[in-house]
Amino acid sequence: MSLICVKDIRKVYHLGTEKVVALNRINLSIEQGEICCILGTSGSGKSTLLNIMAGLEKPSRGSVFIDGVDIAKLSERQLAVFRQKNIGFIFQSYNLMPTLTAVENVAMPLMFKGIGKKSRNGQAVKMLKAVKLGNRMHHKPTQMSGGQQQRVGIARAFVAHPKIVFADEPTGNLDSKTTIEVMEMIVGLARKHHETLILVTHDREIAQYADRIVHLLDGNIKSDKANEALFVPG
Ligand code: ADP
Ligand code: ADP
Repeated sequence: MSLICVKDIRKVYHLGTEKVVALNRINLSIEQGEICCILGTSGSGKSTLLNIMAGLEKPSRGSVFIDGVDIAKLSERQLAVFRQKNIGFIFQSYNLMPTLTAVENVAMPLMFKGIGKKSRNGQAVKMLKAVKLGNRMHHKPTQMSGGQQQRVGIARAFVAHPKIVFADEPTGNLDSKTTIEVMEMIVGLARKHHETLILVTHDREIAQYADRIVHLLDGNIKSDKANEALFVPG
């Protein structure tokens, strides 16, 4: 079985008397180690699909299996533990804890895994060095640029070696030069650790970093194919 199996997912939102079909009938299998982009314009259903795959939102119909587990069968509490163990997130607006330093932010997922403080710090420091923030360990988010904050976010997403990393418009708030740095870092880490990466974007250029591009249009998969113009980091 594939690492992620999305089976006949439908999502309908009800706004008063109005019905919005956010996802029509989505089927998708994603393998361990795949770098897969969900591409589509605003309103095509990308965020809804990501939220359903990550167990943050319930589908109206259909199921999501992660590593053979039907995530709808988990309680909210089991689901939270499952996410902490198996999933890393990279957000458009970084979502760092403002009161914590870079190293403390990166160590958070390791704390949820029950890893001791010394080992946590060691692993967080190593990860921050991997994203070239060895000189920003003890800075807080407000003392860092957007690109630096996102590199902290990347280190946090990968530090506990989750099965899947979801990145939702990870460069949406960054300039073009920083975008390239950040994308190369995300894809480089995913490849190095053979991690599964689900990249969500509206930007065709960003999609070129993925092995596979799933194109969403109005809640349907319009195309699903290998990326011919694949970017391979040097
Ligand atoms: P995208 O991420 O591609 O911009 P979304 O998944 O956010 O698309 O939205 C898909 C469709 O579902 C849009 O028409 C959006 O307005 C609608 N939608 C998303 N979330 C909600 C919600 N919580 N309530 C009502 N409609 C929603
Ligand atoms: P993105 O920029 O990632 O596509 P959106 O701005 O579409 O995000 O949506 C942000 C959040 O608002 C999501 O959690 C989505 O489910 C929710 N949302 C989107 N459209 C609507 C809507 N029409 N009504 C209510 N909530 C919505």
